[in-house]
Amino acid sequence: MVTLSEAQAKRQAGRLAKAVPVLAAAYGHALARWQGDPVLSRAGRPIVTESYRSPERQEELYAQGRSKPGPVVTYKRGGESKHNVLPARALDVAFLLPGGSVSWSGLLLSKFARLVKAADARVRWGGDFPGEFKDRPHFEVLN
Ligand SMILES: [Zn+2]
Repeated sequence: MVTLSEAQAKRQAGRLAKAVPVLAAAYGHALARWQGDPVLSRAGRPIVTESYRSPERQEELYAQGRSKPGPVVTYKRGGESKHNVLPARALDVAFLLPGGSVSWSGLLLSKFARLVKAADARVRWGGDFPGEFKDRPHFEVLN
């Protein structure tokens, strides 16, 4: 089982504290179930990479793949994303692997998404977004 350092645990708590309670609670339930599963918990530890994101940072991400190099990572301009409100209505998730690296494995994310959606049906997973743009690390709640 992958355990967090004290600093990592603090950062996780800080990011969750900036998300709306319904989303933080669904994530917490899913995390507990993940960690209670011997196979899943050995594969890696879910981590929140971002919750609140400033509109300025969102605008920088929007530029990526358009006026700046890199792949397109978002279709939302600054202020349009559910990450841009405080408390945030969106969380991005990745996995801390046993070796210490971070993974955005689509397989692990889809397994985790099942647990999050089971915890609270109000949570939408970016992997279920219609159309071609699947945002698998992304979880959000509507207004
Ligand atoms: Zn996101």
